[in-house]
Amino acid sequence: MSDLLKALEHELPELRKCKAREVLRVLDEAERAAVQRVIENIRSAKESNSTPEFSVAWLTKVLIKHGFQVSESSMKRHIGRMCSCE
Ligand SMILES: [Zn+2]
Repeated sequence: MSDLLKALEHELPELRKCKAREVLRVLDEAERAAVQRVIENIRSAKESNSTPEFSVAWLTKVLIKHGFQVSESSMKRHIGRMCSCE
């Protein structure tokens, strides 16, 4: 199999399935709103070049601590709108 085929068949589905969205999907409404608020805070700080109140590292740590399997890079992709959600 060529490298291109391998990339298309194995890397793309991984990218398509956004881990951040998977986590958000299983949260209850209040939890999801709270996480969404943190995400929006980080996004708007980034867009206005100010310092966010929260960091992606912190958010990831909190989620992992509460039993969610998500990586900082997945969260970064989602927050930076580089994932499949957009
Ligand atoms: Zn996403």
